[in-house]
Amino acid sequence: MTAIRLDGKATAAAIKAELAVRVAELKASGICLGLGTIVVGDDPASAIYVAGKHRDCAEVGIDSIQVQLSADATQQEVAEQIARLNADPACTGFIVQLPLPSGLDSDALLASIDPDKDADGLTPANLGRLLSGAKGVQPCTPRGIVELLRRYDVPLTGAEVCIVGRGMTVGRPLAVLLSAKGVDATVTQCHSATANLAAHTRRADIVVVATGRPHMLTAGMVKHGAVVMDVGVTRVDGKPVGDVAPEVAEVASFLAPNPGGVGPMTRAMLLANLVEMAC
Ligand code: NAP
Repeated sequence: MTAIRLDGKATAAAIKAELAVRVAELKASGICLGLGTIVVGDDPASAIYVAGKHRDCAEVGIDSIQVQLSADATQQEVAEQIARLNADPACTGFIVQLPLPSGLDSDALLASIDPDKDADGLTPANLGRLLSGAKGVQPCTPRGIVELLRRYDVPLTGAEVCIVGRGMTVGRPLAVLLSAKGVDATVTQCHSATANLAAHTRRADIVVVATGRPHMLTAGMVKHGAVVMDVGVTRVDGKPVGDVAPEVAEVASFLAPNPGGVGPMTRAMLLANLVEMAC
């Protein structure tokens, strides 16, 4: 079997076309959207991700507000920029690009973002809303994973999903989204202390891997015909490498590759969050 590719790039392009129409309608009614980004330091991967986010904004008609701080910026300096964007009416939503340089308290900074401008959905307020089932901004990557599965009609109700990773940007909120009433998947969450990881992944109809461990999911760990989402990414010799070994494509029915799978969906969901926040 060679897995059908869950094409995040094409799906994200379709979503952006839909969003461009909504952005134009909002503009016609006098509401202009502006995405702010705060980048601290000169991490090349962060620079690439943020440049992509601003290109997406230009594509759908959203204004860009870019804040670049040096790698030695203090907690206070970053907090001041957050406060500035919280108060700026031209900025309808913004993100602080993670990871921040060591020495900065990311949790405290994220907590100071106005939840109604939290385009990434990663503030404690929005994560709390997610957990309690209240309306709020959803984290972009988990939302993008669910949206990609839906657009390819992958059944979620009653599906056994194994999520490898319990990070706050992907694994943990994804488990909440997939097990929510109305989505109704049955979720197993694995991590670095999971005993016999392969026993869990092999049982699953859908395996999502978000660890940042290159090619850690091998073909022998996947049930024949399962759906596999490769989320984690690590730079090896300057090139991005996913968490899923290439031979998994011979076992899986559908595979979200990396790159080209979940990454573009994450960016599209950032725009979707901005549009919904404005509505
Ligand atoms: P994180 O907070 O570092 O979490 C990584 C998780 O992987 C942890 O829960 C860790 O377990 C687990 N893990 C590590 N090695 C493992 C192993 N050998 N077996 C099982 N579990 C293992 O990272 P994150 O922010 O959630 O991001 C995860 C990955 O996704 C990263 O590579 C990141 O770059 C990528 N990512 C991709 C996108 C995208 O759009 N494609 C977006 C966001 C993040 P412990 O908790 O026990 O340490």
